[in-house]
Amino acid sequence: MLLREVAYARPASLGEAVELLAANDGARALAGGQTLVNVMKARAGSPDALIDLSRIEELKGIDLAGDGTLEIGAMTTYTELVQSSEARARPILGEVCAQIADLQVRNRGTIGGNICTNDPTNHLPPLLAALGAEMTIHGADGDRTVTAQDFFLGVYMTAVGTGELLTKIRIPAGRADGFAAVTLGVEGTCIVSAAASINGGLRIALGCVDAVPVVLEPEPEDEAAVVASVAAANIDPPSDVHASSEYRTHLAQVLAVRAVAQAAKNRS
Ligand SMILES: Cc1cc2nc3c(=O)[nH]c(=O)nc-3n(C[C@H](O)[C@H](O)[C@H](O)COP(=O)(O)OP(=O)(O)OC[C@H]3O[C@@H](n4cnc5c(N)ncnc54)[C@H](O)[C@@H]3O)c2cc1C
Repeated sequence: MLLREVAYARPASLGEAVELLAANDGARALAGGQTLVNVMKARAGSPDALIDLSRIEELKGIDLAGDGTLEIGAMTTYTELVQSSEARARPILGEVCAQIADLQVRNRGTIGGNICTNDPTNHLPPLLAALGAEMTIHGADGDRTVTAQDFFLGVYMTAVGTGELLTKIRIPAGRADGFAAVTLGVEGTCIVSAAASINGGLRIALGCVDAVPVVLEPEPEDEAAVVASVAAANIDPPSDVHASSEYRTHLAQVLAVRAVAQAAKNRS
């Protein structure tokens, strides 16, 4: 038997899903399943019940407001973001989603699942932190909105509490964005990543160097200031079979400079 027995529900509404999650501490939301099902297969996690979010209309869709703000449902897949004409208002979103894994993973994996996992090697936590995204979380008491910086709390930990669901991601208007990563092979997860956005000021978010994206706001935007701000952050990334802590620290500076250069190019 591949998986241990697990209860399964596929509610049609957000209210029903939240009720099911709140009623059972051992229940977990199932989005694209590209992390959760693998975790279950590896016996690293063993939920009592899966609450499949795929029928819930409130979690779907990409809306582009008149002022350029994007509102993206948590169940939007990477492929939908790559193909959506609305999402092209913020082109970096589709560009980065197109770099995630392979077609099968992109067809199933969702923006909500990606950031709720908050695996430091995932592409989207640093990207959404750099873009200044806001997340809407729904629970028994209604909706609350948190900034990306308050959303990511630790490895595999976010502001989404027991009995709550991430419903929407709101991304402000802008185009001057960049992303750079060194990955495990062409379609692999990140060894280190850096996202940058120039929207008013410059915001950089480094991935894979700490439990949560490390956000920096260097001034001015030139290369020396970017390198100095990464150095001043005193990051202490983990060492593993893929890279030493020193190499990750070096990559963080190199990739931050590349991401900022792309953002500056996209502004002109
Ligand atoms: C072969 C392979 C390669 C991969 N490579 C990459 C890569 O290069 N870059 C990258 O970023 N990712 C990569 N991934 C991970 C992939 O992007 C997953 O899709 C993502 O991490 C989880 O999204 P999901 O929709 O599949 O969520 P699921 O696996 O269904 O859920 C993940 C977690 O989030 C919770 N969750 C999901 N949605 C919500 C919600 N709306 N509210 C509250 N909690 C929720 C679930 O309960 C679960 O704990 C890879 C995966 C595979 C299998």
